[in-house]
Amino acid sequence: STQIRLRERPVGEPTADTFETTTVDLPEPADGEVLLQIDHLSLDPYMRGRLSEAESYAEPLAVGDVVMGGTVGTVLASRHPDLAEGDQVLSYSGWQTHAVEPGRAVRKLDTGANPASTALGVLGMPGFTAYAGLLQIGRPQPGETVVVAAAMGPVGSAVGQIAKLKGARAVGIAGGPDKARALTEEMGFDVGLDHRADDFREQLASAVPDGIDVYFENVAGPVLDAVRRHLNLYARVPVCGLVANYNATAAPEGPDTLPGFLGQILTKSLTVRGFIQTEFVKDHYADFLAEMGQWVAQGKVRYREDVVEGLENAPEAFAGMLRGANTGKLLVKVS
Ligand code: NDP
Repeated sequence: STQIRLRERPVGEPTADTFETTTVDLPEPADGEVLLQIDHLSLDPYMRGRLSEAESYAEPLAVGDVVMGGTVGTVLASRHPDLAEGDQVLSYSGWQTHAVEPGRAVRKLDTGANPASTALGVLGMPGFTAYAGLLQIGRPQPGETVVVAAAMGPVGSAVGQIAKLKGARAVGIAGGPDKARALTEEMGFDVGLDHRADDFREQLASAVPDGIDVYFENVAGPVLDAVRRHLNLYARVPVCGLVANYNATAAPEGPDTLPGFLGQILTKSLTVRGFIQTEFVKDHYADFLAEMGQWVAQGKVRYREDVVEGLENAPEAFAGMLRGANTGKLLVKVS
Protein backbone atom coordinates (compact mmCIF):
# COMPACT_ATOMS: atom_id res chain seq x y z
CA SER A 1 0.00 0.00 0.00
CA THR A 2 1.16 3.54 -0.82
CA GLN A 3 0.82 6.62 1.39
CA ILE A 4 1.51 10.32 1.02
CA ARG A 5 2.88 11.92 4.18
CA LEU A 6 3.67 15.45 5.36
CA ARG A 7 7.43 15.86 4.79
CA GLU A 8 7.79 19.48 5.86
CA ARG A 9 5.39 22.28 6.72
CA PRO A 10 4.78 24.55 3.70
CA VAL A 11 5.45 28.28 3.81
CA GLY A 12 2.93 29.79 1.40
CA GLU A 13 1.76 27.51 -1.38
CA PRO A 14 2.43 23.77 -0.83
CA THR A 15 5.14 22.43 -3.19
CA ALA A 16 6.58 19.05 -4.19
CA ASP A 17 8.83 19.24 -1.08
CA THR A 18 5.82 19.43 1.24
CA PHE A 19 4.96 15.76 0.74
CA GLU A 20 6.70 12.40 0.46
CA THR A 21 5.53 9.00 -0.72
CA THR A 22 6.05 5.82 1.30
CA THR A 23 5.01 2.20 0.83
CA VAL A 24 4.22 -0.39 3.48
CA ASP A 25 2.97 -3.98 3.44
CA LEU A 26 -0.76 -4.37 3.35
CA PRO A 27 -1.90 -4.73 6.97
CA GLU A 28 -4.24 -7.50 8.20
CA PRO A 29 -7.48 -6.41 9.88
CA ALA A 30 -7.87 -7.45 13.53
CA ASP A 31 -11.15 -8.39 15.19
CA GLY A 32 -13.70 -5.60 14.62
CA GLU A 33 -11.68 -4.06 11.80
CA VAL A 34 -11.95 -3.89 8.01
CA LEU A 35 -9.36 -3.68 5.24
CA LEU A 36 -10.28 -1.04 2.67
CA GLN A 37 -9.19 -0.27 -0.83
CA ILE A 38 -9.50 3.49 -1.23
CA ASP A 39 -11.38 4.44 -4.39
CA HIS A 40 -11.75 8.21 -4.05
CA LEU A 41 -9.93 10.72 -1.88
CA SER A 42 -11.44 14.14 -1.20
CA LEU A 43 -9.19 17.21 -1.39
CA ASP A 44 -10.54 20.12 0.65
CA PRO A 45 -9.32 23.63 1.48
CA TYR A 46 -9.26 23.01 5.27
CA MET A 47 -6.32 20.63 4.76
CA ARG A 48 -4.08 23.65 4.16
CA GLY A 49 -4.68 24.74 7.76
CA ARG A 50 -3.86 21.28 9.08
CA LEU A 51 -0.46 21.32 7.34
CA SER A 52 0.52 24.39 9.41
CA GLU A 53 1.26 24.68 13.08
CA ALA A 54 -0.85 27.79 13.60
CA GLU A 55 -3.71 27.42 16.05
CA SER A 56 -6.95 26.23 14.50
CA TYR A 57 -10.13 24.41 15.42
CA ALA A 58 -8.41 21.10 14.63
CA GLU A 59 -5.07 19.64 15.68
CA PRO A 60 -2.36 20.13 13.05
CA LEU A 61 -0.96 17.13 11.26
CA ALA A 62 2.44 16.01 12.61
CA VAL A 63 5.40 15.91 10.23
CA GLY A 64 5.65 12.30 8.99
CA ASP A 65 1.92 11.59 9.32
CA VAL A 66 -0.20 10.34 6.43
CA VAL A 67 -2.12 13.38 5.19
CA MET A 68 -5.70 13.26 6.42
CA GLY A 69 -8.81 13.33 4.27
CA GLY A 70 -12.26 11.93 3.63
CA THR A 71 -12.31 8.81 1.48
CA VAL A 72 -14.70 6.42 -0.19
CA GLY A 73 -13.51 2.85 -0.41
CA THR A 74 -14.42 -0.79 -0.91
CA VAL A 75 -14.19 -3.42 1.81
CA LEU A 76 -11.57 -6.03 0.78
CA ALA A 77 -11.76 -8.05 4.01
CA SER A 78 -14.01 -7.68 7.01
CA ARG A 79 -13.80 -8.79 10.60
CA HIS A 80 -16.75 -6.64 11.59
CA PRO A 81 -20.25 -8.19 11.73
CA ASP A 82 -22.02 -5.29 9.94
CA LEU A 83 -19.62 -4.99 7.01
CA ALA A 84 -19.01 -7.41 4.18
CA GLU A 85 -16.49 -7.73 1.37
CA GLY A 86 -17.53 -5.48 -1.51
CA ASP A 87 -19.38 -2.91 0.61
CA GLN A 88 -18.74 0.70 -0.33
CA VAL A 89 -17.96 2.82 2.70
CA LEU A 90 -17.16 6.36 3.74
CA SER A 91 -14.09 6.66 5.97
CA TYR A 92 -11.49 9.19 6.99
CA SER A 93 -8.47 7.24 5.77
CA GLY A 94 -6.46 10.04 4.17
CA TRP A 95 -3.97 10.04 1.34
CA GLN A 96 -3.32 6.31 0.88
CA THR A 97 -4.30 3.42 -1.37
CA HIS A 98 -5.41 1.04 1.42
CA ALA A 99 -6.31 1.33 5.07
CA VAL A 100 -7.31 -0.79 8.04
CA GLU A 101 -10.07 0.91 10.03
CA PRO A 102 -12.23 -0.04 13.00
CA GLY A 103 -15.64 -1.00 11.62
CA ARG A 104 -17.31 1.65 13.81
CA ALA A 105 -15.22 4.38 12.11
CA VAL A 106 -16.67 3.75 8.65
CA ARG A 107 -20.17 4.33 7.30
CA LYS A 108 -21.66 1.92 4.81
CA LEU A 109 -22.98 3.83 1.80
CA ASP A 110 -26.32 3.28 0.16
CA THR A 111 -25.34 3.69 -3.48
CA GLY A 112 -28.81 3.02 -4.85
CA ALA A 113 -29.83 6.58 -5.68
CA ASN A 114 -26.53 8.43 -5.98
CA PRO A 115 -22.91 7.38 -6.75
CA ALA A 116 -20.61 6.70 -3.78
CA SER A 117 -18.33 9.64 -4.62
CA THR A 118 -21.15 12.09 -3.80
CA ALA A 119 -20.59 11.18 -0.13
CA LEU A 120 -17.44 13.32 -0.35
CA GLY A 121 -19.11 16.28 -2.03
CA VAL A 122 -22.69 17.33 -2.53
CA LEU A 123 -23.99 14.62 -0.15
CA GLY A 124 -21.06 14.84 2.24
CA MET A 125 -19.18 17.37 4.31
CA PRO A 126 -19.12 20.21 1.74
CA GLY A 127 -22.81 19.84 0.84
CA PHE A 128 -23.72 19.77 4.51
CA THR A 129 -21.62 22.89 5.11
CA ALA A 130 -23.67 24.72 2.48
CA TYR A 131 -27.00 23.36 3.74
CA ALA A 132 -26.41 24.10 7.41
CA GLY A 133 -24.59 27.42 7.02
CA LEU A 134 -27.10 28.82 4.56
CA LEU A 135 -30.28 27.62 6.25
CA GLN A 136 -29.26 28.08 9.90
CA ILE A 137 -27.32 31.35 9.60
CA GLY A 138 -28.10 32.85 6.19
CA ARG A 139 -31.84 32.10 6.39
CA PRO A 140 -32.69 33.28 2.85
CA GLN A 141 -36.26 34.47 2.32
CA PRO A 142 -38.19 34.40 -0.96
CA GLY A 143 -37.20 37.33 -3.16
CA GLU A 144 -33.98 38.06 -1.26
CA THR A 145 -30.57 38.16 -2.93
CA VAL A 146 -27.91 35.62 -1.93
CA VAL A 147 -24.28 36.01 -3.05
CA VAL A 148 -21.58 33.34 -2.80
CA ALA A 149 -18.02 33.03 -4.15
CA ALA A 150 -15.99 29.90 -4.94
CA ALA A 151 -19.39 29.25 -6.46
CA MET A 152 -18.42 26.37 -8.76
CA GLY A 153 -16.93 24.46 -5.81
CA PRO A 154 -18.98 21.95 -3.83
CA VAL A 155 -19.92 24.38 -1.06
CA GLY A 156 -20.69 27.38 -3.25
CA SER A 157 -22.65 25.54 -5.94
CA ALA A 158 -24.86 23.97 -3.27
CA VAL A 159 -25.37 27.32 -1.54
CA GLY A 160 -26.66 28.92 -4.74
CA GLN A 161 -28.95 26.05 -5.64
CA ILE A 162 -30.44 25.74 -2.15
CA ALA A 163 -30.99 29.51 -2.14
CA LYS A 164 -32.95 29.12 -5.40
CA LEU A 165 -35.02 26.28 -3.94
CA LYS A 166 -35.92 28.65 -1.09
CA GLY A 167 -37.13 31.27 -3.57
CA ALA A 168 -34.16 33.64 -3.37
CA ARG A 169 -32.09 35.13 -6.20
CA ALA A 170 -28.64 33.58 -6.44
CA VAL A 171 -25.57 35.46 -7.64
CA GLY A 172 -22.43 33.33 -7.93
CA ILE A 173 -18.83 34.53 -8.18
CA ALA A 174 -16.08 32.33 -9.61
CA GLY A 175 -12.66 32.63 -11.23
CA GLY A 176 -12.62 32.97 -15.03
CA PRO A 177 -15.28 33.24 -17.75
CA ASP A 178 -15.86 29.48 -18.12
CA LYS A 179 -16.76 28.98 -14.47
CA ALA A 180 -18.86 32.17 -14.48
CA ARG A 181 -20.85 30.87 -17.46
CA ALA A 182 -21.30 27.40 -15.92
CA LEU A 183 -22.91 29.02 -12.87
CA THR A 184 -25.96 30.06 -14.89
CA GLU A 185 -25.91 27.36 -17.57
CA GLU A 186 -25.25 24.36 -15.34
CA MET A 187 -26.02 25.31 -11.75
CA GLY A 188 -29.09 27.51 -12.24
CA PHE A 189 -27.73 30.70 -10.66
CA ASP A 190 -29.45 33.90 -11.80
CA VAL A 191 -26.10 35.57 -12.47
CA GLY A 192 -22.52 34.26 -12.69
CA LEU A 193 -19.65 36.73 -12.27
CA ASP A 194 -15.90 36.39 -12.86
CA HIS A 195 -13.97 37.91 -9.95
CA ARG A 196 -10.89 38.24 -12.17
CA ALA A 197 -12.67 40.46 -14.74
CA ASP A 198 -11.35 44.05 -14.86
CA ASP A 199 -14.84 45.44 -14.34
CA PHE A 200 -15.87 42.91 -11.65
CA ARG A 201 -17.00 45.65 -9.25
CA GLU A 202 -19.25 47.25 -11.87
CA GLN A 203 -20.67 43.87 -12.90
CA LEU A 204 -21.42 43.07 -9.29
CA ALA A 205 -23.17 46.40 -8.76
CA SER A 206 -25.51 45.76 -11.69
CA ALA A 207 -26.12 42.14 -10.59
CA VAL A 208 -27.52 43.22 -7.20
CA PRO A 209 -29.86 46.16 -7.88
CA ASP A 210 -31.74 45.51 -4.62
CA GLY A 211 -28.58 44.98 -2.56
CA ILE A 212 -27.48 41.76 -0.86
CA ASP A 213 -29.38 40.04 1.96
CA VAL A 214 -27.11 37.02 2.44
CA TYR A 215 -23.41 36.89 1.65
CA PHE A 216 -22.12 33.36 2.23
CA GLU A 217 -18.42 34.01 2.84
CA ASN A 218 -16.09 31.41 1.35
CA VAL A 219 -13.14 33.48 0.19
CA ALA A 220 -12.54 36.91 1.85
CA GLY A 221 -9.90 39.08 0.11
CA PRO A 222 -10.89 41.53 -2.65
CA VAL A 223 -14.20 39.71 -3.28
CA LEU A 224 -15.37 40.44 0.26
CA ASP A 225 -14.31 44.05 -0.09
CA ALA A 226 -16.42 44.44 -3.25
CA VAL A 227 -19.44 42.53 -1.95
CA ARG A 228 -19.75 44.10 1.49
CA ARG A 229 -20.50 47.54 0.02
CA HIS A 230 -23.87 46.19 -1.19
CA LEU A 231 -25.04 44.54 2.03
CA ASN A 232 -28.55 45.54 3.05
CA LEU A 233 -29.89 46.43 6.48
CA TYR A 234 -30.09 43.22 8.55
CA ALA A 235 -28.07 41.20 6.01
CA ARG A 236 -26.62 37.89 7.21
CA VAL A 237 -23.04 36.82 6.56
CA PRO A 238 -22.31 33.17 7.40
CA VAL A 239 -18.50 33.08 7.57
CA CYS A 240 -17.59 29.67 6.21
CA GLY A 241 -14.09 30.02 4.80
CA LEU A 242 -11.38 32.48 3.81
CA VAL A 243 -9.63 30.57 1.06
CA ALA A 244 -8.03 33.70 -0.45
CA ASN A 245 -5.90 33.87 2.71
CA TYR A 246 -4.94 30.22 3.29
CA ASN A 247 -1.49 30.44 1.66
CA ALA A 248 -0.82 33.98 2.87
CA THR A 249 2.51 34.60 4.58
CA ALA A 250 1.94 38.30 5.38
CA ALA A 251 -0.92 40.73 6.00
CA PRO A 252 -2.51 42.13 2.79
CA GLU A 253 -1.11 45.34 1.37
CA GLY A 254 -3.08 48.57 1.23
CA PRO A 255 -5.24 50.45 3.70
CA ASP A 256 -6.81 48.65 6.66
CA THR A 257 -10.44 48.07 5.67
CA LEU A 258 -11.49 46.54 8.99
CA PRO A 259 -12.74 49.81 10.57
CA GLY A 260 -14.93 50.39 7.51
CA PHE A 261 -16.40 46.91 7.72
CA LEU A 262 -17.00 47.19 11.47
CA GLY A 263 -18.76 50.51 10.85
CA GLN A 264 -21.01 48.76 8.37
CA ILE A 265 -21.74 45.90 10.76
CA LEU A 266 -22.86 48.53 13.23
CA THR A 267 -24.91 50.86 11.03
CA LYS A 268 -26.46 48.12 8.86
CA SER A 269 -27.17 45.83 11.84
CA LEU A 270 -25.40 42.96 10.11
CA THR A 271 -25.18 39.44 11.48
CA VAL A 272 -21.67 38.12 10.78
CA ARG A 273 -21.42 34.64 12.20
CA GLY A 274 -18.64 32.10 11.75
CA PHE A 275 -19.23 28.37 11.95
CA ILE A 276 -17.60 24.98 11.60
CA GLN A 277 -20.03 22.53 10.05
CA THR A 278 -19.53 19.95 12.81
CA GLU A 279 -21.51 22.12 15.24
CA PHE A 280 -24.67 21.44 13.19
CA VAL A 281 -24.20 17.70 12.66
CA LYS A 282 -26.15 16.50 15.66
CA ASP A 283 -29.29 18.50 14.91
CA HIS A 284 -29.30 18.69 11.12
CA TYR A 285 -27.29 15.91 9.45
CA ALA A 286 -30.16 13.45 9.19
CA ASP A 287 -32.42 16.13 7.60
CA PHE A 288 -29.61 17.02 5.23
CA LEU A 289 -29.11 13.45 4.05
CA ALA A 290 -32.83 12.98 3.46
CA GLU A 291 -33.61 16.34 1.88
CA MET A 292 -30.43 16.87 -0.11
CA GLY A 293 -30.36 13.22 -1.17
CA GLN A 294 -33.78 13.69 -2.69
CA TRP A 295 -32.89 17.01 -4.35
CA VAL A 296 -29.82 15.43 -5.95
CA ALA A 297 -31.65 12.27 -7.05
CA GLN A 298 -34.39 14.44 -8.60
CA GLY A 299 -31.88 16.71 -10.35
CA LYS A 300 -32.98 19.76 -8.35
CA VAL A 301 -29.46 20.15 -7.00
CA ARG A 302 -26.70 19.48 -9.50
CA TYR A 303 -23.04 18.92 -8.81
CA ARG A 304 -19.81 18.77 -10.72
CA GLU A 305 -16.84 16.58 -9.83
CA ASP A 306 -13.30 17.31 -10.96
CA VAL A 307 -11.56 13.94 -10.78
CA VAL A 308 -7.76 13.67 -10.89
CA GLU A 309 -6.36 10.20 -11.70
CA GLY A 310 -3.76 8.68 -9.36
CA LEU A 311 -2.77 9.28 -5.75
CA GLU A 312 0.63 10.55 -6.90
CA ASN A 313 -1.13 13.58 -8.41
CA ALA A 314 -2.83 14.60 -5.16
CA PRO A 315 -0.16 17.15 -4.05
CA GLU A 316 -0.30 19.13 -7.29
CA ALA A 317 -4.10 18.98 -7.45
CA PHE A 318 -4.32 20.19 -3.86
CA ALA A 319 -2.05 23.19 -4.48
CA GLY A 320 -4.04 23.95 -7.64
CA MET A 321 -7.33 24.02 -5.76
CA LEU A 322 -6.13 26.81 -3.50
CA ARG A 323 -5.62 29.01 -6.57
CA GLY A 324 -8.81 27.94 -8.36
CA ALA A 325 -7.52 25.32 -10.82
CA ASN A 326 -10.39 22.96 -9.93
CA THR A 327 -13.83 23.12 -11.53
CA GLY A 328 -16.14 21.33 -9.14
CA LYS A 329 -15.62 19.03 -6.18
CA LEU A 330 -11.95 17.99 -6.33
CA LEU A 331 -11.48 14.23 -5.98
CA VAL A 332 -8.54 11.93 -6.55
CA LYS A 333 -9.33 8.59 -8.16
CA VAL A 334 -6.96 6.44 -6.13
CA SER A 335 -7.74 3.01 -7.58
P1 NDP B 1 -13.61 24.82 -3.70
O1 NDP B 1 -13.68 23.58 -4.50
O2 NDP B 1 -14.57 25.91 -4.02
O3 NDP B 1 -12.10 25.32 -3.85
C1 NDP B 1 -11.65 26.54 -3.41
C2 NDP B 1 -11.96 27.64 -4.45
O4 NDP B 1 -11.66 28.90 -3.87
C3 NDP B 1 -11.09 27.62 -5.69
O5 NDP B 1 -11.56 26.71 -6.64
C4 NDP B 1 -11.20 29.06 -6.17
O6 NDP B 1 -12.32 29.17 -7.04
C5 NDP B 1 -11.54 29.84 -4.90
N1 NDP B 1 -10.49 30.80 -4.59
C6 NDP B 1 -9.19 30.54 -4.30
N2 NDP B 1 -8.52 31.69 -4.10
C7 NDP B 1 -9.43 32.68 -4.27
C8 NDP B 1 -9.34 34.10 -4.20
N3 NDP B 1 -8.19 34.72 -3.91
N4 NDP B 1 -10.46 34.83 -4.40
C9 NDP B 1 -11.64 34.23 -4.69
N5 NDP B 1 -11.77 32.89 -4.78
C10 NDP B 1 -10.68 32.14 -4.58
O7 NDP B 1 -13.71 24.51 -2.14
P2 NDP B 1 -14.92 24.06 -1.21
O8 NDP B 1 -16.23 24.27 -1.88
O9 NDP B 1 -14.59 22.72 -0.68
O10 NDP B 1 -14.79 25.10 0.01
C11 NDP B 1 -15.24 26.44 -0.12
C12 NDP B 1 -14.96 27.19 1.18
O11 NDP B 1 -15.68 26.59 2.25
C13 NDP B 1 -13.50 27.18 1.62
O12 NDP B 1 -13.19 28.46 2.14
C14 NDP B 1 -13.47 26.16 2.72
O13 NDP B 1 -12.41 26.35 3.61
C15 NDP B 1 -14.82 26.39 3.34
N6 NDP B 1 -15.33 25.28 4.16
C16 NDP B 1 -15.69 25.54 5.44
C17 NDP B 1 -16.25 24.59 6.25
C18 NDP B 1 -16.71 24.96 7.62
O14 NDP B 1 -17.12 24.08 8.38
N7 NDP B 1 -16.67 26.22 7.99
C19 NDP B 1 -16.39 23.20 5.78
C20 NDP B 1 -16.04 23.02 4.37
C21 NDP B 1 -15.52 24.04 3.60
P3 NDP B 1 -12.44 30.32 -8.20
O15 NDP B 1 -11.72 29.77 -9.39
O16 NDP B 1 -13.89 30.43 -8.37
O17 NDP B 1 -11.80 31.55 -7.68
